[in-house]
Amino acid sequence: MRIVDGHCDALTKLYMNAKLDFHTEEDELDVSFPRLQKAGVKVQYFAMYLSESISNPNFEHVLQMVDVFHRKVASHPGMRFIQTASDWRAVEQSNDIGAVLTLEGLDAVVGNFTYLRMLYHLGVRSIGLTWNYANWAADGVMERRNGGFTKKGLAMLKEIESMGIIVDVSHLSAAAFWELVDLYKKPFIASHSNAQHLCPHPRNLSDEQIKAIISCQGLMGITFVPYFLESAKGEVHISSILKHIDHICALGGETHVGFGSDFDGIEHWVKDLRHVGQYGNIIEALCKNYRESQVEAFLYGNWRNFMLANLPQ
Ligand SMILES: [Zn+2]
Repeated sequence: MRIVDGHCDALTKLYMNAKLDFHTEEDELDVSFPRLQKAGVKVQYFAMYLSESISNPNFEHVLQMVDVFHRKVASHPGMRFIQTASDWRAVEQSNDIGAVLTLEGLDAVVGNFTYLRMLYHLGVRSIGLTWNYANWAADGVMERRNGGFTKKGLAMLKEIESMGIIVDVSHLSAAAFWELVDLYKKPFIASHSNAQHLCPHPRNLSDEQIKAIISCQGLMGITFVPYFLESAKGEVHISSILKHIDHICALGGETHVGFGSDFDGIEHWVKDLRHVGQYGNIIEALCKNYRESQVEAFLYGNWRNFMLANLPQ
């Protein structure tokens, strides 16, 4: 069974630690070529996230991460860079694994439209507007004041919309989320967020937010972060992931839900989901509870349909 994983932080690890090797299976990398291959992942999204440990994060750091992505990931034999819908179709026709490049947080773009357009030219196809905290564009979910967009942030949102970069609302404050719903005309995604109804963490989405994603023909990636799956302490099992899928389906989202693991961005893991190579354990659990066509849609088809409709042709 083919799989799309809509969010991982492997690139941040590869950038911060030059010794790590994407080509070999090593404990420190949840997402590596051998593990993607083992699981049958067909398309993996790679987020550029500037670690909080970088002092003075700026656009040069982003460029260095793009460079790491090309040198260490996309150029690897068996990997193929996806920038367009036809690239995606070409990956489907081949044995290659597709790689989508995304940016998590506009912080280093500092309101500069040339930087933004440069990211598009370099192949960035989805942008999360904030990480957890406020930046020049908008507030993140962990910012206490729950502010929305700044004036400059709104201007850049318009530019992102006109360029055809997909907006990712995971990490965005609720206030900014609803401003976006009012102003933004295209479908958008939450690449790695779960349902607040089942786990009331600020990083998760309320039922109203989930319905807004569904009604804009967007997509929501269920994430494997244990404390976004269950609020009770203790070991979290794959069954918990299925509960979030059930809930989104109950809200009408059966064709708008996929996965965005957050592998390499987590330090605690769901039992039997220690790395991307273990996706088979989810498939097994899904197959016991859903029809094959539904399982195929959750794992691959929903992401595929969304991306073919929203990537440049
Ligand atoms: Zn994240």
